[in-house]
Amino acid sequence: MNELIGRVFDFEKTIFPASSELFARLSSQGQEPKALIVSCADSRIVPEQIVQAAPGDLFVCRNAGNIVPPFANMTGGVSATVEYAVMVLGVRDIIVCGHSDCGAMKALSYPEGLERMPNVSAWLRHGAAAEHVVTTCSPHLEKADRIRAVSLENVVAQLTHLRTHPSVAAAMAQGEMALHGWFVDIEVGQVLGLDGDTGRFVPLRADRPLPVAMPAAQRIATDDYYAEAAE
Ligand SMILES: [Zn+2]
Repeated sequence: MNELIGRVFDFEKTIFPASSELFARLSSQGQEPKALIVSCADSRIVPEQIVQAAPGDLFVCRNAGNIVPPFANMTGGVSATVEYAVMVLGVRDIIVCGHSDCGAMKALSYPEGLERMPNVSAWLRHGAAAEHVVTTCSPHLEKADRIRAVSLENVVAQLTHLRTHPSVAAAMAQGEMALHGWFVDIEVGQVLGLDGDTGRFVPLRADRPLPVAMPAAQRIATDDYYAEAAE
């Protein structure tokens, strides 16, 4: 038997019994995750490990390239996950988490060979803005530097897409939701966070305020007439 698959018996025998009270509570009371994370499917990135989440803590959506397609009137797994997390579970922090050495971002940066993978190719079109920003603003970047820049810009692009989802847009307008853009450097075990004020990714440090891409702040498009009518 595949050694990994065989470990399921350890879950039944040792892991579950050690947390049986937690699972009993989660089973009877339901889940109330504290955040939604959209991360890459890459096996080296384990969202629960990064934030040391216990069962019930973190709503997770993983796919190649940590992509959030913009809202559209078509069925999509990521869109449905975002909608459910916000509308039903009441999640009010969403993290888009990219990482170094990302295969999807390599393909987005250098798409040669993608013609044999029509689904990957179509999926990565949701990162087109990231590739175009880097090609336009930093045309001198090559190889690893270009891939890293595209990976960081891709986090920004997907945060922009998130805001097109009506559930997210409404929660943000109410001043209830914060969006976070993270990037994990696998080789050094460091997590960078996008600071929305400066537009830069900076290391997350316990002794500094958490950089937030879009902090919770009430906002409504209005004019004087609308504001007076609402009072
Ligand atoms: Zn990846």
